[in-house]
Amino acid sequence: MSRASLFSREVGAPQRTEITIGSVSVGRDFLLIAGPCSVENEKQTTETAREVAAAGANMLRGGAFKPRTSPYSFQGLGIKGLQILARAREETGLPVVTEVIDPRDAGWVSEYVDMLQIGARNMQNYSLLREVGKIGKPVLLKRGMQSTLEEWLNCAEYILAEGNPNVILCERGIRTFEKFTRNTLDLSMVPAVKELSHLPVIIDPSHGTGKRSMIEPMSLAAVAAGSDGLMIEVHVHPGEALSDGDQSLYPEQFARLAARIRSLMQFMKKAELADEH
Ligand code: PEP
Ligand code: MN
Repeated sequence: MSRASLFSREVGAPQRTEITIGSVSVGRDFLLIAGPCSVENEKQTTETAREVAAAGANMLRGGAFKPRTSPYSFQGLGIKGLQILARAREETGLPVVTEVIDPRDAGWVSEYVDMLQIGARNMQNYSLLREVGKIGKPVLLKRGMQSTLEEWLNCAEYILAEGNPNVILCERGIRTFEKFTRNTLDLSMVPAVKELSHLPVIIDPSHGTGKRSMIEPMSLAAVAAGSDGLMIEVHVHPGEALSDGDQSLYPEQFARLAARIRSLMQFMKKAELADEH
């Protein structure tokens, strides 16, 4: 006999869930996460953090544990990376999100950051999901690259069932036959998640496309579709990045994009107000 799902609109919450992280209320305020794919060193992370904060990001991203395709690629700085993120947070005031890849690390890693990210490759790592459910800190749950909406929402359920209501879903593209883009960014998941669930949903156009030139159009499309936020990779020197340089924006590109996002949101608000009259 299956129980009704906590993620569902009927059971979980009559209104949409709002999740407080620092001064941001996700679900009400637009969540703009930016930062490098990987924490590489203190200078790169701090400089990028300063740039994205000045441009209007309200959360910093940076991987200290990287799930790489090859075991010989850069795996992240581990605890040193977390310490660098904590200092960047102190300096800029931006709350921080980082990926955790091992259930044994979730507890101590959570002490350094404001939100734990579950990566696409770990979406169905049930012991990791249970662990971050127990910890209670906000969780950013990425969609697995081979996963259906139903499978994704059921993974959110693992976290919710442990008593942690603070789950944000993140669409990051799925595997299709298309090779031009790194993944196929499924923007239809924004209205789809909202139809089935009360949880906030954001878009990651960086992993979703793999191409710097496509981040701006897909970000604006995500906003227009009603996304609760965006997660965008930014690097002070993308050409020297140890991971995902091709999809990382230069700081000035991010600043321009952030301004355009604000304009679009204002336009949408005005259109909504006009509708009410
Ligand atoms: C990331 O955000 O750096 C990342 C590894 O993303 P994904 O899990 O979506 O591939
Ligand atoms: Mn990346």
